[in-house]
Amino acid sequence: MNLPAKKKCRCCRKTRPLDQFHRLQGVAAVHPFCRPCLTESVRQRIARRGARHAASTRCCAQCGQDLPVQMFHWLKASGSYHSYCRPCHATYMAERYRRNRAEQRR
Ligand SMILES: [Zn+2]
Ligand SMILES: [Zn+2]
Repeated sequence: MNLPAKKKCRCCRKTRPLDQFHRLQGVAAVHPFCRPCLTESVRQRIARRGARHAASTRCCAQCGQDLPVQMFHWLKASGSYHSYCRPCHATYMAERYRRNRAEQRR
């Protein structure tokens, strides 16, 4: 009995020798993904999990949107993020500057 020595990877669609596939334990079969694809998919799964863990969001006090914390200024003094997102903060600062100038003119 001769098993086909090659298998087509379900991920990259390349035909590779069977030893390029991970042999599944307890099953007379190999993984549908070749080893490089399997390694890559595991790596991506871990990266995604890590990203989800790190990507916390914050609700902007101005526009009320849930935005990733990278969209907020980090306030070193208070050890937390600004309550306004960067665009809202920029708008707020511009508005404040404009108002201050208007008051000075009076
Ligand atoms: Zn592959
Ligand atoms: Zn905002």
